[in-house]
Amino acid sequence: MKIWLDGGLQDIESARVSVFDHGLTVGDGIFETVKAVDGTPFALTRHLDRLTRSARGLGLPDPDHDEVRRACAAVLDANPMPLGRLRITYTGGHGPLGSDRGEHGPTLVVALGETRRRPDSTAVITVPWTRNERGALTGLKTTSYAENVVALARAHEQGASEALFANTVGQLCEGTGSNVFVVLDGEIHTPPVASGCLAGITRALTVEWTGAKESDLPLDVLERADEVFLTSTLRDVQAVHRVDGRELPGAPGPVTAKAMRIFEERSGDDLDP
Ligand code: PLP
Repeated sequence: MKIWLDGGLQDIESARVSVFDHGLTVGDGIFETVKAVDGTPFALTRHLDRLTRSARGLGLPDPDHDEVRRACAAVLDANPMPLGRLRITYTGGHGPLGSDRGEHGPTLVVALGETRRRPDSTAVITVPWTRNERGALTGLKTTSYAENVVALARAHEQGASEALFANTVGQLCEGTGSNVFVVLDGEIHTPPVASGCLAGITRALTVEWTGAKESDLPLDVLERADEVFLTSTLRDVQAVHRVDGRELPGAPGPVTAKAMRIFEERSGDDLDP
């Protein structure tokens, strides 16, 4: 397996990042996960734009899009696979112990893992911890993911594949690695970015392609929604068949099934929508 580091391809066994890299010591970094279909990245331009927004939010130098594109192409070329997930990681680089950034420039790593299609439906739980809709990191895709790791472990303990958060004012927000949609009286709704959720790329395309509305939703909407579904790079559009103890029989319901179909068709037609 070859990865991109320090401006070129390296063997994963011998590639080295400093133990004082701030991505490791203080979680000062950002990332993107990009789906790659038969060696072609999906929606790469949108991912690069979000990477830049995240970098600016953290005060990191703008990533060089040409270099990241070259890195993705080289890694995909060196590791052929039918369905992959590119992981672009960009950190503050190595610096002094503590939180001050050193003089060193950022670290860019691009790696690739094999992935597979997710089942059409899944179970989710809600967790008692909140997403902060007004934090310094809100909306940035940072490597500070430990809270998601904890919530996801709780989901797995309960036989679910995702955990959903409310924000600090009790509104439905997002999952650990996905955005959430509900169907109410035949209409599709998803929390607005102001709820504190990540501006998911799959979310944006789903809103664009299905006409879903961005609405403030209380967390308990999950107790009465006719249908619930998730979106993310690795799930695409995935129906939910259980929320906590509540079964949603027949998932994917008709509205979700249509959204899944639209997403599959449109994303297959254009790999850089
Ligand atoms: N929300 C969070 C917290 C995420 O980490 C992700 C993806 O990793 C998403 C939502 C979905 O975003 P995207 O559709 O761009 O993958």
